[in-house]
Amino acid sequence: MSSELDQKIRIPLSVPQLDGNEWAYLKECLDTNFVSSVGPFVERFEHLVAEFAGARHAVATVNGTAGLHLALRLSDVRPEDEVLVSALTFIAPANAVRYLGAWPVFIDAEPHYWQMDAAAVERFLEEQCVTRDGKVYSRLSGRRIAAIVPVHILGHPVDLDAICEIAGRFQIPVVEDASEALGARYRGRRIGGGCNMCVFSFNGNKLITTGGGGMVTTPCQTVATAARHLTTQAKAHPHEYEHDQVGYNYRLTNLQAALGCAQMEEVCGKISAKQAIAARYRTAFEDLPGITLMPEAGWAESTFWLSTILVDEREYGMSSRALREVLDGENIESRPLWQPLQRSPAHQAFFHRACPVADHLWRTALSLPCSAGLREAEQSRVIDVVRCNRKG
Ligand SMILES: *Cc1c(COP(=O)(O)O)cnc(C)c1O
Repeated sequence: MSSELDQKIRIPLSVPQLDGNEWAYLKECLDTNFVSSVGPFVERFEHLVAEFAGARHAVATVNGTAGLHLALRLSDVRPEDEVLVSALTFIAPANAVRYLGAWPVFIDAEPHYWQMDAAAVERFLEEQCVTRDGKVYSRLSGRRIAAIVPVHILGHPVDLDAICEIAGRFQIPVVEDASEALGARYRGRRIGGGCNMCVFSFNGNKLITTGGGGMVTTPCQTVATAARHLTTQAKAHPHEYEHDQVGYNYRLTNLQAALGCAQMEEVCGKISAKQAIAARYRTAFEDLPGITLMPEAGWAESTFWLSTILVDEREYGMSSRALREVLDGENIESRPLWQPLQRSPAHQAFFHRACPVADHLWRTALSLPCSAGLREAEQSRVIDVVRCNRKG
């Protein structure tokens, strides 16, 4: 029953769905007085995420950005090093590089699946770097290349084998930013269970949320122990306040982890819902000139965390930004992709190369409403507006 009133209710881009055991688990925290960073839900949440992702170890963090900072520090990224980072991503991984006094080098996206271009990584390392004593240095800056951070954007995995092969050949550690890709599969296996450190985020608009939160997964016990140590101010004694390093207060609280445990119980349903929403958009726009949904690689199972279309201005008769305004006028929230980081005023202190693919995707892409709880009638409203406004 879609009434006139329904037509006016705002359809948000992506909001949390909190209809499982969230209340019960939060109440349990309050009833047991475990609200802070000690408590049974933290460990339980770590186990749930590790098991789901197929990771051997998982360490909860206060948010995904903190997780990236931690993972890069544990990869031995140092001041004045350089780190290869996807150009087309939310800004957090580049900021985390700067927190360590190192510099991001932005790698363009490949045009098919929009992820970090493995061929561009290879070209950079082969043509613009030199290897001395087993270490790789940029010819341009003389700085050491300390790590590679591929970001699995929008729920779709990067071509991990290709990137890991190159990284292995040059002996450079990989830290995967999987903030947007919990549950995504690469060649049948979920992201996070591989041989790299991998970082997840549970911010409000992510697939599952803890309000704010993150997780670092790793196959290595030593790395996991070191990560846990650094998240708790590197406290080195069980009773005495003695600290052996400069650590961080990066632990997740029991309250947040309680939310996370309830959310993890529903994670598969949320993924199915996201995938069904994307499939419906794909079918609905199949015959609409100028509108195409983000593709999925043969080796990938995307969660379609955000259903994102490309708007071809010539074919559709309107730019992605103009369509955003039309949707907004109809009380429908949509969102462009992130400004490619080589263009970001926050990261202009260092030489950057052009990233034309990232630029093109930035100008033409638009993410559409895709909350896991999106109703069919709401999605129909979005589809109708996109279909009816083509100027051709
Ligand atoms: C959300 C996100 C993060 C981390 O965000 P937090 O809000 O710090 O949890 C990092 N990288 C990417 C690509 C993200 O989308």
